[in-house]
Amino acid sequence: MLWSHRMRHDDSKLGFDTLAIHAGQEPDPVSGAVMTPIVLSSTFAQDGPGNHKGFDYSRAGNPTRDALERCFAALEGAKHAIAYGSGCGATTSILLTLKSGDHVIVGDDVYGGTFRIFDKVMKQFGIAATFMDMTDPAKVEAAVTPQTKMIWLETPSNPLLKIFDIAAIATVAKKKSVMLTVDNTFATPALQQPLALGATLVVHSSTKYLNGHSDVVGGVAMTNDDALAETLHFVQKAAGAVPSPFDCYLVLRGLKTLGVRMRQHVQSASTLADWLAGHAQVDRALYPGLKSHAGHAVAAKQMKAFGGMISFEVKGGVPAATAFLKALRIFACAESLGGVESLAEHPALMTHASIPAETRRALGIGDGLIRLSVGIEDVGDLRTDLEAGFAAAAKT
Ligand SMILES: *Cc1c(COP(=O)(O)O)cnc(C)c1O
Repeated sequence: MLWSHRMRHDDSKLGFDTLAIHAGQEPDPVSGAVMTPIVLSSTFAQDGPGNHKGFDYSRAGNPTRDALERCFAALEGAKHAIAYGSGCGATTSILLTLKSGDHVIVGDDVYGGTFRIFDKVMKQFGIAATFMDMTDPAKVEAAVTPQTKMIWLETPSNPLLKIFDIAAIATVAKKKSVMLTVDNTFATPALQQPLALGATLVVHSSTKYLNGHSDVVGGVAMTNDDALAETLHFVQKAAGAVPSPFDCYLVLRGLKTLGVRMRQHVQSASTLADWLAGHAQVDRALYPGLKSHAGHAVAAKQMKAFGGMISFEVKGGVPAATAFLKALRIFACAESLGGVESLAEHPALMTHASIPAETRRALGIGDGLIRLSVGIEDVGDLRTDLEAGFAAAAKT
């Protein structure tokens, strides 16, 4: 039950946009405040030792965080949501449920910070990772060893927007009795719901689309598995990667417009992707909505729409890409994604710089590759801005 006394509908029948605004939230029983209060208190008075109202200490539980976790869970169609102070905090906390000697199969162009957690942090604790392209689920199955405990994938992936078949890989995971974690940051639950496709866990950087306003760093893990949720709640409390109540409030506020924002992100991105795909200075445009995209059919099957991210290779390598990015006025040259404002970045020099150059090249993250997070500004203005970028690139 998402709302207690006020509304008693069957919540599962409510539409996404209704849940985004109301799930986990109800007028404050004391004041009637319609907006969820920001409860900053680190501690909560008890009627007697151990006799409290559900909260004792804010690392273990906080009313504002509780509301956010309920809203997250409702949107992703999950029984449980556990919020963290960052997406990387969510990733690390999930991996803390594994043990030394365990093995994870990871998508080969996951977020650079996720690669770094596996490659530099977890390795030290004896958790091994194999990075691979997951386009062929049979190859994923062949990579499972007796030590494998988890498959970890991102779809659309970052920055190449590769599409992996969640349902097919979930079938492999079930057959081999391993968990499947899907990083759903790029798609958001508005466009794709991995738990319904058979994933064990969904992880998000709520820094991106979920908050949507580039003013919070946060993360969340979600699952329908009660035992796993209990372990994650334990790790959340024990390891302590919790978000602040103020950040929880901001993300709750951002979530209210998730559906509306995603509709505009999708519409503008598909307009710009069509235009970029036919541009003379573009070697290749990557957007799952393009018929030319290798993952288009699978994306059409598992996503409601194709998202707000585009990558493309500008002719002329690093000099052209650098000139392009410097000429932009509306798109900020910045890392991150998923905000209402448009961002552009150079994966090889920025977000994916922690991946060795050879590996980057092998993956197809070229020197001219530019990644766009298409915001919800006027799409004509965005196109004019990109035209200025191409004019500058042509002069290099
Ligand atoms: C940003 C990002 C992360 C990491 O999240 P933070 O909030 O920056 O810690 C993980 N996965 C993806 C796909 C991301 O874009």
